[in-house]
Amino acid sequence: MKTIVLTEVSKLELRNAPKPAITTDTDVLLRTIVVGLCGSDIHYFTTDSIAGEKVAHPAVLGHEVSAVVEAVGPGVTSLKPGDRVAVDPAVSCGTCDQCRAGRPHTCRSLLFLGSPGEKDGALAEYFVMPAANCYPVPETVSMAEAMLTEPLSIALHALSFWPGSPGQTMAVLGAGPIGLSVILAARAAGIEKIYATDRIVEREDAARLAGAVWAGNPDRGDVVREILSRQPLGLDAVFECCGVQSALDQAVDLLKPGGTLAVVGIPLVERISFPSGPLRRKEIRVQSVRRQNRYVKRALLLLSARLIEIGFLANRDFRPEDAQAAFETAAGRKDGALKVTISFQAIK
Ligand SMILES: [Zn+2]
Ligand SMILES: [Zn+2]
Repeated sequence: MKTIVLTEVSKLELRNAPKPAITTDTDVLLRTIVVGLCGSDIHYFTTDSIAGEKVAHPAVLGHEVSAVVEAVGPGVTSLKPGDRVAVDPAVSCGTCDQCRAGRPHTCRSLLFLGSPGEKDGALAEYFVMPAANCYPVPETVSMAEAMLTEPLSIALHALSFWPGSPGQTMAVLGAGPIGLSVILAARAAGIEKIYATDRIVEREDAARLAGAVWAGNPDRGDVVREILSRQPLGLDAVFECCGVQSALDQAVDLLKPGGTLAVVGIPLVERISFPSGPLRRKEIRVQSVRRQNRYVKRALLLLSARLIEIGFLANRDFRPEDAQAAFETAAGRKDGALKVTISFQAIK
């Protein structure tokens, strides 16, 4: 089968690899339809370590994926060959303290699809997952939308720490696919006063399209002053979705006392910092967000009910043969790309 392999920093090769086999009764063999390139895939592509952890080469990346069930293990009753599925990429053990506490996303022996050294990813024609990680896709949801349940789940998880209410105010700093998903999910929850920032003009536009009342560019103006001129008391919540120190600083300035800062972005540096005075005086609640915890099904429900229209994010598609160009487009944020995808098969 065709497999896209990261052989070294910034270098991908299309290789022929043996089709994986089901080895556990409760596993399913999946035929890949479309894979979205995530910020973390791009980090693995462009650097040889993330927050102190070395990237193990060769690696098969990709964890945002929709697929069709090709075969099921003898113990699988929930799925059958031909089913379209969205995939939760985190495989947890089910027995550790975290799993038993309802936190499988911080499982002590988590294996994450497409995380080098943990589990080969979905950038291949076939891959194997536990049936419990696969969610049937309703007929009204496309395979591209099903793939986007991964970033949307992260947005729903982030919002679970600050559910907000329609009268409250929030900002999303960094309007990439995760930030845009947070805006979409917040709008679906009835929150209207959403401010957004990004350095890329197409992403400012996308933020407005997703439902932000205002979007601005921190390189072209003082976004803190602009937002506070519209919300003089400050914001109830800020979702930092770019992993950049200056955005964390802006978040502290933007929040009102008692406000919540959700740190969703993945910094490339080993340390981030906060100004101790304002953080303490405003009694800001800082909440780290680690991927998501069991939100794929809810994401599918929101999409099938058309409460969220997320399809516009997947706006640049490539063939597996052009994986190198796909990753370079995503890494360079070229051509107004929001979510770059690689399609192994063309089905709706
Ligand atoms: Zn992702
Ligand atoms: Zn566990």
